[in-house]
Amino acid sequence: MQVSDNTVVAIEYTLKNDAGDVVDSSVGHAPLTYLHGHHNIISGLEHALLGKKVGDSFTVTIPPEEAYGLRDESMTQVVPRHLFQGVDEIVPGMKFHAEAEHGVNVVTVMEVKGDQVHLDANHELAGETLHFDVVVQAIRAATAEEIEHGHAHGLDGHHHH
Ligand code: ZN
Repeated sequence: MQVSDNTVVAIEYTLKNDAGDVVDSSVGHAPLTYLHGHHNIISGLEHALLGKKVGDSFTVTIPPEEAYGLRDESMTQVVPRHLFQGVDEIVPGMKFHAEAEHGVNVVTVMEVKGDQVHLDANHELAGETLHFDVVVQAIRAATAEEIEHGHAHGLDGHHHH
């Protein structure tokens, strides 16, 4: 069986950035299980997996346009410190949930200058070229229910939510 639309695929992966740092990895954890052809994973990785078989291992480099997009400088803003009531200390790297036009955004504190807090709502991997090492561990046909829901129900297809 090959990876194609409406198959459920389990992969082991390690994600590195351009500098070679490991950003994320499933090694030592459960594999990533997803429904192929439904945009459940970034498009560059989905394209690379098409036609692969169990046991295939490969490395793929994905530009930001096919991963988490380019950075959008309009998604950065500077807000006054007093908006963070109840937060004792604000330091770079802290993340907050902010209400946005289309739901909730995660914003990251980039810098604190006096009363001014610099925030960035870009995905932390926006603008990054990603390097994936992938091993295909399992492939099965999706159930009708999974196709209807547009996502996988785990490796055995029996999880529900
Ligand atoms: Zn479901």
